[in-house]
Amino acid sequence: MAILDINIYGDEVLRKPCKPIEKITPELVTLAKDMLETMYDAPGCGLAAPQIGKNIRLVVIDTAIPDEEEPRPYIMFNPEWDVEPGSALATNEEGCLSLPDVWGNVTRPNKVWVSYIDVNGERQTIHNCEGLFCRCIQHECDHLDGKLFVDKISTADRAMNASKLRKLAKRK
Ligand SMILES: [Zn+2]
Repeated sequence: MAILDINIYGDEVLRKPCKPIEKITPELVTLAKDMLETMYDAPGCGLAAPQIGKNIRLVVIDTAIPDEEEPRPYIMFNPEWDVEPGSALATNEEGCLSLPDVWGNVTRPNKVWVSYIDVNGERQTIHNCEGLFCRCIQHECDHLDGKLFVDKISTADRAMNASKLRKLAKRK
């Protein structure tokens, strides 16, 4: 297991659309496990491959509360999601390991399904994802399309974070 470097806002790799994964190889499974390790170490509840410099459709998620709940790690290759019947919009604060100290409210559907390929190459579908898990799936899948949560925050939140964003983008 290894802790990987996390790319920060301003790094071009975060803005590139990611390629679908054709075959689940042992190397990809090792990479995914390293991503989980990196995410727990940060700490965070989700990490997408572009954040560690790979433009491939892979995300890892664990929204269990550290030290209170058993870990619930998910490794998702080629994840896709859509809203469930009865889904409404919900607004909640988000942050991102690639945007340290930046926070803002994002409005997203509050009930979705997610479908992905697991480490054994099998298709899995989880229905009625809600709460933080639901939000995290959407946030991580956005990364695979080169989108960041700050693209979706209000003008007020953007103004509040403007100088932090400028500093992050310029830090190299
Ligand atoms: Zn993120």
